[in-house]
Amino acid sequence: MTPALAQSIPFFPYPQAFLREEEDLTEIFRDVGRRGAFVMQEDLRRFEENLARFLGARRAIGVANATDGLSIALRAAGVEARSEVIFSSHTMVATAAAIHFAGAIPVAVECGADHLMDAAAAEAAITSRTSAILPTQLNGRTADMEALGRLASRHGLVVVEDAAQALGSRFKDQFAGTFGAAAAVSFFPAKVLGCLGDGGAVIANDERVGERAIALHDHGRDAQGNVTGWGLNSRLDNLQAAILDYRLRKFDAVIERRRRLARVYHAALEGVAEVVRPPAPDADAAHFDVYQNYEMEAERRDALREFLSARGIGTLLPWGGRAVHQWEALGLQARLPATEKLFKRVLLLPMHAWLSEEDVETVAGAVREFYRGRT
Ligand SMILES: *Cc1c(COP(=O)(O)O)cnc(C)c1O
Repeated sequence: MTPALAQSIPFFPYPQAFLREEEDLTEIFRDVGRRGAFVMQEDLRRFEENLARFLGARRAIGVANATDGLSIALRAAGVEARSEVIFSSHTMVATAAAIHFAGAIPVAVECGADHLMDAAAAEAAITSRTSAILPTQLNGRTADMEALGRLASRHGLVVVEDAAQALGSRFKDQFAGTFGAAAAVSFFPAKVLGCLGDGGAVIANDERVGERAIALHDHGRDAQGNVTGWGLNSRLDNLQAAILDYRLRKFDAVIERRRRLARVYHAALEGVAEVVRPPAPDADAAHFDVYQNYEMEAERRDALREFLSARGIGTLLPWGGRAVHQWEALGLQARLPATEKLFKRVLLLPMHAWLSEEDVETVAGAVREFYRGRT
């Protein structure tokens, strides 16, 4: 890439995930390396305990990534093979893949105005074969879990949350990941709490579900090392856990920073008629959002994206530009007009804790300029 083409405000500057904490991280490598503490060691146990305490959950179990975590969560929660699991199609393909690899059938439904699972659409998709609903706590926002919880108990369904994007997010003062039988969070580098590679955790409030998840993620073995059934090898590396434990201590400040930047975006995009902004922080008392993404709706989205790119501003189309059911190779065969319409309009602006407020003003200013130029 020539310097002239380098983005001045990249969508996510991956090297910063290391450079910002280079000395402390190097010290962690050295410490873990010298102890030879690579797999299922004390650092992992400590992180799991601290994460469970942070969430007010009974158990947090480090896994290799959130996709594995969701599959393990579904199986640990007792979702049966060949039953149907309802998910919102506005999510990563990983959500549906996790259902598939748990042996169940993914059923895609529409999202609502806040881009999260629509409870009425979920209810309409329930059949005699439905076993669970799997809401994605998208963009760092937790769905209305009262409505979804009522729906699930009315129909005797299990709730498993995809909280990959929502660590620290709350609905009515309860953390994402603690509403259902089980959940998964992701520590992919660009997530709100990221490590330096792949990582995830299963969250469980029920002791039996937690024990099944522990066995499923470690060759079917229980705490005594006895094989209690078939299991995977899907463990969170001890080195990553040590890094995550270090970062968890600073996590509240990261969330505050993201919420601050969301406030700056919200104010700076006020009155731009062609744009629909995500809910502002504290827009309503029920939601505490952590802004994994700043996902807006925009008229003439693709032209806006090119305009921003020419100014060195990186943006992203969610999930490569398509909802899960729109990837024909998966054969989901749903028709979801509202989601399909939304996917012509959604755009992610840069959002991470290392952005400056001036960067956010620059991005929002360029958006305003694009629409002012339109006659
Ligand atoms: C990132 C993400 C996943 C997958 O997480 P991995 O840890 O990369 O497996 C699943 N669902 C959603 C909504 C995500 O954003």
